Amino acid sequence: MNASENTAFRLPQKRNLVTELPGPNSRALTERRRASVAAGVGSSVPVYAADADGGVIVDVDGNSLIDLGAGIAVTNVGASHPAVVDAVRDQAGRFTHTCFMVTPYEGYVQVAEELAALTPGDHDKRTVLFNSGAEAVENAIKVARLATGRTAVVAFDHAYHGRTNLTMALTAKSMPYKTNFGPFAPEVYRMPMSYPFRDDSGLTGKEAAQRAITQIEKQIGADSLAAIIIEPIQGEGGFIVPAPGFLPTLASWARANGVVFIADEVQTGFARTGSWFACDHELVVPDIIAMAKGIAGGLPLSAITGRAELLDKVHAGGLGGTYGGNPIACAAALATIETMRELDLPARARHIEEVVTTRLRALAEEIPAIGDVRGRGAMLAMEFVVPGTTEPDAELTRAVVARALEQGVILLTCGTYGNVVRLLPPLVIGDDLLADALDVIEGAVRAAS
Ligand SMILES: *Cc1c(COP(=O)(O)O)cnc(C)c1O
Repeated sequence: MNASENTAFRLPQKRNLVTELPGPNSRALTERRRASVAAGVGSSVPVYAADADGGVIVDVDGNSLIDLGAGIAVTNVGASHPAVVDAVRDQAGRFTHTCFMVTPYEGYVQVAEELAALTPGDHDKRTVLFNSGAEAVENAIKVARLATGRTAVVAFDHAYHGRTNLTMALTAKSMPYKTNFGPFAPEVYRMPMSYPFRDDSGLTGKEAAQRAITQIEKQIGADSLAAIIIEPIQGEGGFIVPAPGFLPTLASWARANGVVFIADEVQTGFARTGSWFACDHELVVPDIIAMAKGIAGGLPLSAITGRAELLDKVHAGGLGGTYGGNPIACAAALATIETMRELDLPARARHIEEVVTTRLRALAEEIPAIGDVRGRGAMLAMEFVVPGTTEPDAELTRAVVARALEQGVILLTCGTYGNVVRLLPPLVIGDDLLADALDVIEGAVRAAS
């Protein structure tokens, strides 16, 4: 199955460089930006976008680059899928905003219905919509605290949950996310993650979970614990897939102890990992699931969906926000979900996994600096190390990404140690374009190592 055959792309699905990168127009914008945009906002690629479609981004100099970032796992259906564009246009022509808390509208309710159907578990569910991933996470914690009457929250090593005050506290990595931005929200406790590449060999998922549970019981006490929040596959922390059994063991301990199990599926959700949600792979049913990124084809929308008995405990007015569930974003989400179903994008993500891991595993046989190839669906990564060790090699990682960009392939890095190259292509990327990108990556890895 090839999703590219089902979609007539507007832009040629080809890598094509007509200037050096960044080209003169991008360089001029970088100059203007220095004088107007705060330095605290970074951009990993110094190339300015003019157009984007399917698997390509065309820059302001006319270069066509292959997009293996999807705006950090957002444009799973592409950056201008016609169904999403039409839905946005149509809704914008009727009304752009009324505020759901003032004059509600059907789109919000429809999104809530879709999320109840798509998220794991067949229990009674309720949904609230917000604007960003961090906002969804914050609200999941608010609900968990109110519903349990407890305050403590457990997050994990290598976790990333956002940049607001509470989500900074939940996030593990200091630089660049937390350094000098404190004080942070209290009552957040960090536990060891299951990280198969770096754990003692032979440590099972169940044992890794037990290691965390023992610490929770000793350091916090289940009676004080409102919630455990975890990314079922960690994103910014390094595309870490926990050992099988880790998530189910944590989830069942939480259930047995009245602790709300929150899955942060902001990055992993919406077909990205080869199923609708990453929890589906181990049949884990979270009490609350936080979603954003892939949900609305690029428009800002986020959500929490959870057990009705938890969500409905909150008094009216306790949850919400002016823009939360904006009608244009809701229309985009409905079109995105419909498109994902029509093109069977979970299957497409599994196909991408097969194509990419076959190539990267073969490359890893040849290049000892590739310590690990991992991930699920179209959320895939290579971890670079000093050959024969697990010592991270962030410099090599940066060199690989820089070389790939020179050739017109946008790659992102991640990882606590900055030594992971991550691949997050739009799920509609065609096979030929993906193969071309993998050729470039192979060449970049060979040349850099
Ligand atoms: C990106 C991300 C967030 C934060 O989302 P924003 O929309 O940037 O606030 C939270 N959790 C995870 C797992 C993410 O990947």
